[in-house]
Amino acid sequence: MVLEYHGNILRDRCTVEGSSRNVPTMPRRAASLCRLRRLLRPDVVWFGEAIPRTPMMLAAAAAEDCDVFLSVGTSSLVYPAAGLAQARPRAARWSSRSTRMRRT
Ligand SMILES: [Zn+2]
Repeated sequence: MVLEYHGNILRDRCTVEGSSRNVPTMPRRAASLCRLRRLLRPDVVWFGEAIPRTPMMLAAAAAEDCDVFLSVGTSSLVYPAAGLAQARPRAARWSSRSTRMRRT
């Protein structure tokens, strides 16, 4: 299962009507407009914005229910995502900052 906790940079979203669509080319060549001619933004969560409720709840449930929790490619310093690794204290964790596997 893959949850887009922080969204997807390969998708744009309209903040007015909530529609989204895949980015046709990367890197982006020009600003995209929706059917209402509104400027689209990347469909990702920026610093200071809330994580969408559905992926946040699903990720928390999956973290509590997993046998092994792998935390890869993150500093694990920014919450609430950083808190997922503590949801299952017995699960093994691995961080890209540390090459050691550790059991807590
Ligand atoms: Zn729109």
